[in-house]
Amino acid sequence: MNNYKILLFYKYVDIEDPETIAKVHLEWCLANEIKGRVFFASEGVNGTVSGTIGNIENYKRHLTGYSYFKDIWFKEDDAEEHAFKKMHVRLKNQIVNGDLTDVSLESGGKKLSPEDLIKFYKDKKDFIIIDARNWYESKIGRFKNAITPPMKNFREWKKVVEDDLNDYKDKTVVTYCTGGIRCEKASAYMVEKGFKDVYQLEGGIFNFIKKYPDTFWEGGMFVFDERRVINPNSKEELMHVAECYFCGKPTSYYINCHNVNCDRIIVSCHECKAENDYCCSDECRESKNKRKVYHG
Ligand SMILES: [Zn+2]
Ligand SMILES: [Zn+2]
Repeated sequence: MNNYKILLFYKYVDIEDPETIAKVHLEWCLANEIKGRVFFASEGVNGTVSGTIGNIENYKRHLTGYSYFKDIWFKEDDAEEHAFKKMHVRLKNQIVNGDLTDVSLESGGKKLSPEDLIKFYKDKKDFIIIDARNWYESKIGRFKNAITPPMKNFREWKKVVEDDLNDYKDKTVVTYCTGGIRCEKASAYMVEKGFKDVYQLEGGIFNFIKKYPDTFWEGGMFVFDERRVINPNSKEELMHVAECYFCGKPTSYYINCHNVNCDRIIVSCHECKAENDYCCSDECRESKNKRKVYHG
């Protein structure tokens, strides 16, 4: 039974006193059984939260009660339970960690709707599609023909643009990320670097797969919550793009190695993760510094 909902949202907006909002927000969420992760900064808000359908409706009313957020776009998903164990509210310098503080959002790529992206593919338009997420995210799922840079974190985006994407300055380019927040700045940086025809996928992968599963998205979507991955497709050939590190079977699942000193992300099917005690190697399995509680 799907009695819960998950919300994904962000908004770039100048906030006068993010510290007070963050404080009030945490108290409100604890009192109203909302769990998740919400970041406030003077440049805006970025969050993912879960709760019962009723509590989530209250949450939306609460957040949109601030004039800053009255028109915020909540992307919603149904769920059977909370997607988080706790509520974290943090005050940050930026709502996405990165190296693009000097980039103007005004330069952002043109917004491309899921419908228009489908049209690009169907019309066989000459375009380049680029994954603006980290390597481990694109490893388990990506758009058809996407370029997937080997990025460890978003701070490497400038380097990726300079090293890997420089040849595409005159091409039509589409960037995408999970919910759209990264692309606001990632695409703006490309425009500022002289890329001529830049689009950003509106609402990110999340918005696309909700509307058009079994089309041009291949594999699972990595999420930073208890679900770990969302599998939108039902067509066999579009279910998985990754293979289990241990047995080679197609899967979209992954674990963090339970040797705390390793913590490596490895793609693993459910059978192999149990068989290998949630560890990537014999060495890690024998480590004295293993997580006490299985996670993933
Ligand atoms: Zn396996
Ligand atoms: Zn390991």
